[in-house]
Amino acid sequence: MEKQEQVFCQSCGMPLTDDHYGKNADGSVNSDYCQYCFADGAFTSDVTMDQMIEECLQYLDDFNKDSEQKMTPDQAREQMKQFFPTLKRWQA
Ligand SMILES: [Zn+2]
Repeated sequence: MEKQEQVFCQSCGMPLTDDHYGKNADGSVNSDYCQYCFADGAFTSDVTMDQMIEECLQYLDDFNKDSEQKMTPDQAREQMKQFFPTLKRWQA
């Protein structure tokens, strides 16, 4: 059986599921970004990569709750600083 590839929001790095996709200006689904980052054809907030990382750290408790590997804010920040530059939004 083929392993399904996990898709991540190309802005905040959260795993994308069918009901979390962003929407284009014409109402169609944007498969690159989640609904929190991208709505009606535009990014919902004009942030830098570092600001996005700090924003995501606010949800670390939620993430740890569902994860076997508990991360400290410092560990999470380091991991995101490695991961985010690979995302489409931050490659420009
Ligand atoms: Zn996102």
